[in-house]
This record gives sequence, structure tokens and C-alpha cells, in this order.
Amino acid sequence: MCNEYKSSIRLFVDSQLGLNMAVELDKAQSHYVVTVMRQKVGMHLEVFNGRDGSFHAEIEKADKKSVTLRCVKSFKVQKYVPDIWFLFAPIKRTRLDFMAQKATELGASAIWPIFTAYTQMTRINEDRLHANAIEAAEQCGRLDIPQIMHSKKLMDVLADWPEDRHIVFCDELAAGQAQTLEILQSLSVQKAAIIIGPEGGFAASERTALLNMPKVARLSLGPRILRADTAGLAALTLLQAFCGDWVET
Ligand code: SAM
Repeated sequence: MCNEYKSSIRLFVDSQLGLNMAVELDKAQSHYVVTVMRQKVGMHLEVFNGRDGSFHAEIEKADKKSVTLRCVKSFKVQKYVPDIWFLFAPIKRTRLDFMAQKATELGASAIWPIFTAYTQMTRINEDRLHANAIEAAEQCGRLDIPQIMHSKKLMDVLADWPEDRHIVFCDELAAGQAQTLEILQSLSVQKAAIIIGPEGGFAASERTALLNMPKVARLSLGPRILRADTAGLAALTLLQAFCGDWVET
């Protein structure tokens, strides 16, 4: 990478990107660049939009409310994370931010809050999830943002499940059953979905419905009962390590 372009600031912009194209930052991003990060005209930062790779962009105009950039160099070619959906029963608000950030860093292609029989929360702020995902993608070097799916009841999600997508059902009742490695090694799939239950676990009818799905792997995450957020991170880590982008392809 050319040193003169070394920049620690990465911004997700929802506009087209191309060499010599101008990019207008929104008010919040302008405030961040000018006031928080004290960047000046002539300095560079990295912009990406989830479609065209990333560019180094030079600050052309800057005041506290608006910043105009100019793409001066193509930096990274567009790459996508493995197609692993992350479905989880939402837990307390703060943990929700945490789940969105960690699922983004761990390379989930989609984040899908699902309501199960024992889910405590009834409403999800999807804009908040999206904002957390953007911030995490900017920080971790991703070139795309996970899709935030509209929250839905688990049984409705299963009723309309795409037939080519494998379900990795993290079942607390499988805790300690040793086949974890064998199951992961058999999961050389292109499309997967991790399903994590709420603090109260899955209801028997949900477990039956999940185990009756055509493409499902019942996964133990070890002998201990993990908190839902811990379980989500553990499952995503295992999948990336065994059949995701942590393995050289
Ligand atoms: N209340 C449940 C119980 O005591 O059995 C525990 C639910 S746990 C806090 C939340 C979710 O994390 C579970 O529904 C499951 O998806 C996942 N999980 C936690 N520990 C697990 C394990 N050892 N193996 C597989 N999944 C686990």
C-alpha cells in the first residue's frame, strides 16, 4: 500500500464509488471526520460502499456540517464474507449492540433477530442494529455490511426457509455431545445459518421443528451452558474456522 495513502479512518458510504468520483459525507460523518478526528483538506481516508471495493479518498472540502471527498485511488477489490446467516433470539438491549458488532466482525453475512417462545424482548430497533453493524464493519476492515433482516417469529422463519441453506442448530440440550468437530467438518456448505436461542432456551416444539428441517446440523458448543451472546460468538467462530474464510481456500 502506498504510504502517502495510509489512513486509519474507514467510512461506509451509501453512494457509488469510482476513480475521481466525489463523495458527500452526511452530517454525522462530517462531524466525525472534522471535529472528532480533526481531519483537514488534503488528508485521506478509506471509503467503501459494500459493492465497489474501497477507495482512498482525499478531503476536498470540509466544514463541520459537510465534507466532500474525491476518490483518488482504488484501494481494495470488493470481497464478500462467507454466506453465513446469524439468527438469534434477542436479549437485553446492550447485549444486542454487542451481538450486532461481534457478528459483523466475525463475518456474518446477515443478522436476523428471531422471536421464540421464551424470548424476553418483543421489539427490535433495526436501525440501531444497522448502525452497530456499520461501525463494526468500518473498524474491522470488512468491505460489506451484514444485511439486517426484519425480526420474525422462529416458526414463521422456518415455514419459509430457503431449501439450499443449511441450519446449524445450537441446541443447549446437545451440550457435551462430542460430535462437534465431525459435524463442523461435514459442513462444507456454501450457505449456512446459525440459530441461537434465548436465555430460556428453545421450547420443545421449536426443537422438534428445527430437527425436522431438511438440512439441519444439531451442534453442541461444549459441555457448559453458554449465555446466548457467548454461544453466538462461539458458533460463528467455529463455522468460520471450519468452513468459512478463516480457512485458506
Ligand atoms: N436456559 C437454557 C438452559 O438452561 O438449558 C440455556 C439457554 S442458553 C443461555 C441460550 C442459547 O445458547 C441456547 O438456546 C443455545 O442456542 C445456545 N447454547 C448455550 N450453550 C450451548 C451449548 N453448550 N451447546 C449448544 N448450544 C448452546
